[in-house]
Amino acid sequence: MSTIIPVPPVTTLAVAGSSDRFPVRRVYCVGRNYAEHAREMGFSGREDPFFFCKPADAILNVLDGTSGAMAYPPKTSNLHYEVELAVVLTSGGRNLTVEQAQDAIWGYAIALDMTRRDLQGDAKKQGRPWELGKAFDQSAPIGPVHARADIGELAAGAITLAVDGVVQQSSDLSQMIWSPAEAIAYLSAYFELQPGDIILTGTPEGVGPVLAGQTMTAAIEGLGELRVQVQEQAV
Ligand code: MN
Repeated sequence: MSTIIPVPPVTTLAVAGSSDRFPVRRVYCVGRNYAEHAREMGFSGREDPFFFCKPADAILNVLDGTSGAMAYPPKTSNLHYEVELAVVLTSGGRNLTVEQAQDAIWGYAIALDMTRRDLQGDAKKQGRPWELGKAFDQSAPIGPVHARADIGELAAGAITLAVDGVVQQSSDLSQMIWSPAEAIAYLSAYFELQPGDIILTGTPEGVGPVLAGQTMTAAIEGLGELRVQVQEQAV
């Protein structure tokens, strides 16, 4: 095939215990999926889940699996961390049942939904889309994928994030309002899901700012740790 420009590379994720990699098609993110985080953002109750997307090439590819570095993004003075459980799909479809959605989950990874909170806040106020706040380059550092066949279903377990060793977010996967399978089933009524899609399942309470020079350590029980240092903005 002759192309006008070189075909852009496909983003892939490391797979724990394997030299194989997981190619990513789309990144869907669930908003406000832990009750305490919904409260800190000014909401309460069990609303229907809602979603936004990040481009697959916004993933920060942590090549060695457990530690990497991202540049402090431009046009913000309030970069926030959000630690999240990512689930990766090896099958898809439309109008999945919760059971079918569960079967589509091949594995799990630690993800960071990095957010330019000032830009997201402006977008919310003005009724504008969230891309400037959420979908920037390197906005989704993701660690290696652990196969569900190896580690079992992750329905409970500690999820934490520390900045320079100080714990800022600490919750449990069991505190999700919508389980990963429930969120996927809901999403599949709106999009035909495909192998390679990944879903970031929302963050618990305790979100806050991170500065250049600081290191975020995200951890999920069963998945180990993901360390990402924030570096000075490139000029
Ligand atoms: Mn999030």
